Amino acid sequence: LMQLFRPLDMLGWVYRTIRQGLIDMAAMFRLIDTPVEVSDAPGAPALLVRQPTVVFDNVVFGYEQDRDILHGLSFEVPAGAQVAIVGPSGAGKSTIGRLLFRFYDPQSGRILIDGQDIASVTQESLRAAIGIVPQDSVLFNDTIGYNIGYGREDASAEAIARAAADAAILPFIRSLPEGFDTEVGERGLKLSGGEKQRVAIARTLLKDPPILLLDEATSALDTRTEQEITGTLRRVSRNRTSIAIAHRLSTIADADTIFVLDKGRLAESGSHQQLLRHDGLYAEMWSRQANERVEEVS
Ligand code: ATP
Repeated sequence: LMQLFRPLDMLGWVYRTIRQGLIDMAAMFRLIDTPVEVSDAPGAPALLVRQPTVVFDNVVFGYEQDRDILHGLSFEVPAGAQVAIVGPSGAGKSTIGRLLFRFYDPQSGRILIDGQDIASVTQESLRAAIGIVPQDSVLFNDTIGYNIGYGREDASAEAIARAAADAAILPFIRSLPEGFDTEVGERGLKLSGGEKQRVAIARTLLKDPPILLLDEATSALDTRTEQEITGTLRRVSRNRTSIAIAHRLSTIADADTIFVLDKGRLAESGSHQQLLRHDGLYAEMWSRQANERVEEVS
């Protein structure tokens, strides 16, 4: 009888592992809803990033026919700049991330990285160039070391430790009796939201991408953890181009440029101070959120 059950047990394990993997992928790519097939052009070359500039050039895009979400959107992110995309709910912020990752192709217009149209290069090379730090990171039921090294099976223990140090989670890991071999997730140690986020940051750092896409990276955290994580992200964003898709304005006020999106159009752009002086949509969103912050405190 045991012989009969063992394969079933195994199947259960395989199922749980796959399911956990899918959950993780879904969390990592919260940016995807229903990915549409995009394919590499025949003989497509790899993307070569020397200067990680990102350009949206007159991009028109809709998920469905006759309902455009982005209406000829153009903006430029210089190499090494830290920019943020803000705007009301449904403005198309996450859509920009999905297009940059090429889960979809625009109906017209182009998206360029370092001057190369992302539709003309291999998807593999495109995705290797962009690291995502997602909002909610779900971990695999495995060791903390595995979770950091995930996707880079060739990573050495030293490289994993370095990434953990850069993500400011190394002291925490060292404090665990089993260190990097500590099991985490449902079956093991439960990590806090901030710790999970740091594991996700370490995983991204190991990939060492020239472009970072921060997907509302700090929303589920308390204010102090949020500030600490924001500090870590600021540090690891240095020497990279980073694009933050943000709902909370407090974390992105020091971005080099803030792009304010409204109904699929670029409504305003500039630094925090410039946008406050402009006294438009951003200034309105800022004062509304400032009031909410005061209410939270009182
Ligand atoms: P939020 O701040 O609420 O996350 P957002 O600015 O990120 O909003 P998007 O997620 O980019 O907005 O969505 C923009 C528009 O596209 C919305 O009207 C949304 O309903 C629509 N949309 C998003 N994903 C899909 C999809 N897979 N199929 C059809 N429409 C979609």
